[in-house]
Amino acid sequence: MIYADNAATTRMSRTAIEAMLPYMSEYYGNPSSLYSFGQKAKEALEEAREKVAKCLNCNPWEITFTSGGSEADNQAILSAARSGEKKGKKHIISTAFEHHAVLHTLEKLEKEGFEVTLLDVHSTGIIDPAQVAEAIREDTCLVTIMYANNEIGTIQPIAEIGKICREKGVVFHTDAVQAAGHIKIDVKEQNIDMLSLSAHKFHGPKGIGVLYTRRGIVLHNLINGGAQERGKRAGTENIPAIVAMAAALTEACDHMEENAARMTALRDRLMDGLDKIPYGELNGSREHRLPGNVNYCFEGIEGESMLLLLDDKGICASSGSACTSGSLDPSHVLLAIGRPHEVAHGSLRLTIGEDTTEEDVDQIIQAVTDVVTYLRNMSPFWRDLVTGKRTHVFSE
Ligand SMILES: *Cc1c(COP(=O)(O)O)cnc(C)c1O
Repeated sequence: MIYADNAATTRMSRTAIEAMLPYMSEYYGNPSSLYSFGQKAKEALEEAREKVAKCLNCNPWEITFTSGGSEADNQAILSAARSGEKKGKKHIISTAFEHHAVLHTLEKLEKEGFEVTLLDVHSTGIIDPAQVAEAIREDTCLVTIMYANNEIGTIQPIAEIGKICREKGVVFHTDAVQAAGHIKIDVKEQNIDMLSLSAHKFHGPKGIGVLYTRRGIVLHNLINGGAQERGKRAGTENIPAIVAMAAALTEACDHMEENAARMTALRDRLMDGLDKIPYGELNGSREHRLPGNVNYCFEGIEGESMLLLLDDKGICASSGSACTSGSLDPSHVLLAIGRPHEVAHGSLRLTIGEDTTEEDVDQIIQAVTDVVTYLRNMSPFWRDLVTGKRTHVFSE
């Protein structure tokens, strides 16, 4: 099997698994207990917090452990909204291609009377910082823009956006779930006020994440109960997962440059191979993209059929379309970068990882080329394109 869906989730690293084992079998105490056995877990918790803080360049007390990226996004946005509301500020700026954890939270706030401006991400899948500056108003309480997009892998000019927000005194949150452990994050240098990350996207366990909140910014609870996480997130801490996440993040950050260089070379090889398929196009900027992300649209193809045939060939890939909900709507991300519906349906996301090899990449190129040819040969839609009944969107 060739796993090319690392943007969906990753394999846990040996380091992460080994780090968590003792906290399930030996040191299973509750960190809130007073006896020294529980204190062992408490020490591991605080050590993990320090490690995560070091990777982000913040203070340990600015780190809150959550159940993952979705919870961190929800808490960040709702906190900034609640604080803004108190000062009569009910305007939020975001983009049209955020993760649903962000978009659906914003929709909820709109129903409560907040006004949301979604910035255009252009065909490159990149926001111009000037758009943010122009959109900020007197009543803006939050700018939330993702660091790297989970479908098309484009990287936003986060430091420039952060600088603008800081100068204008507006809280800046970034969903850095796809960026963390893969590209550089420095919350101080990049003027980030709040940031979400999730362990399972960088070889840590599922169900654990982080919300970084700069000192001075008020957090509002989503989960009420005990006084864990400075009273900001109740519930007995998932020590094994927290310890494993800190180990995975540290490992990823320690090897970031070499991993990125290797994966970028493989990614470029993959793009060079897929570029040869006629009537297809890369989605989003070629330069400003994650080291592991490749995303194409092919004309005359249904994404789902392509995935099933690739699965037959032992390749795990993904399509942009929202197949999880059973709907046939094309991806909101591809529509946001201006892909027409019929083309957005034929999308393919391949996200390679640290263990992908050159042979894997060559096999993927061959398999995708074969599958596209096969599907086009039996597609009436494709026949219409060939006979000129319909016009091509892409060039050969
Ligand atoms: C995966 C992902 C999330 C959700 O994280 P979970 O830990 O699965 O809740 C949020 N945002 C982005 C960009 C993601 O890729």
